[in-house]
Amino acid sequence: MSLKLRSADFHCDVLMKLLEDESRSFTNEERTELDVTLPKLRQGGSVLQTFAIYIPERMEKSMMPILQSIDLFQRKILTSPSLKWIRTRQDVNQLNGSGSIGALLSLEGADGLQGELSMLRILYQLGVRAVGLTWNRANWGADGVLENRQGGLTGKGREFVAECNRLGMLLDVSHLSDKAFWDMVDITNKPLIASHSNARTICDHPRNLTDDQIRALIAMNGRIGVTFVPQFVIAGRTARVDDILLHVEHICTLGGEKHIMFGSDFDGIESHVMGLSNPGELENLQEALLQRYNEALVSGFMAQNALDYLLEQLPAGSKIQ
Ligand SMILES: [Zn+2]
Repeated sequence: MSLKLRSADFHCDVLMKLLEDESRSFTNEERTELDVTLPKLRQGGSVLQTFAIYIPERMEKSMMPILQSIDLFQRKILTSPSLKWIRTRQDVNQLNGSGSIGALLSLEGADGLQGELSMLRILYQLGVRAVGLTWNRANWGADGVLENRQGGLTGKGREFVAECNRLGMLLDVSHLSDKAFWDMVDITNKPLIASHSNARTICDHPRNLTDDQIRALIAMNGRIGVTFVPQFVIAGRTARVDDILLHVEHICTLGGEKHIMFGSDFDGIESHVMGLSNPGELENLQEALLQRYNEALVSGFMAQNALDYLLEQLPAGSKIQ
């Protein structure tokens, strides 16, 4: 069977790999140092790829590497004519039938903003459209999921959420501590996403979401990006594509069939789910889904649920907020 549906991915770490070594190629078919490349996105029927800015822990937490990552996004990714930068609803609408791949810019961990909301506004103006307040550790705004203290949002973190809501910057809860997750749910007036997290009931890992968290995201019409990180898919053995379906099925039983999308974490992971090591292999996932669900549901999981969210949540036009 050939790939007949479109695919969308709400999280990859290509920009981190380019920040480490910009000689890596996004476009060259012969090169294999990146999971996510233009030829593999085409092969996988991609209509949307989110590119996360992530500053590795050993680097300085400042605006400099964030801005360098935006420069890399513009020079190494957007220069390809088949990619279209997604900043508005209009941009998403223009993807229809164009054959273009939408490229959305996100920030994973706002440590480098150092609590300055002016920096958040500048990143919005530079085209960043989604942000996760923390990575795994604590920062000025909240505790991350692996911070022992397990605290919630700070006062600055609360101001940050309010400013994101005002700007229309999408908020990503994937790396937050449970307490910070619920603090954010309490105060946000826009639906949140978990761009790359699975169901904790299926695989008991702190990076995964509890059933109550999944229900909360569904209730606010947010999204859950089921992820391909092997240790978040299944514990104790090699993860296979069918194991990903356990998470999809569980979220469906909680009422989330319109809220499921995918967030691969390609280029942020050392190992891969068997048969799913790059976007070119998404056909394997699609085939497995089509054996269990009808085509309308599968096209929702694969792309449309993510696109619908962007059509609801991105600004209508390009006016700066
Ligand atoms: Zn991550």
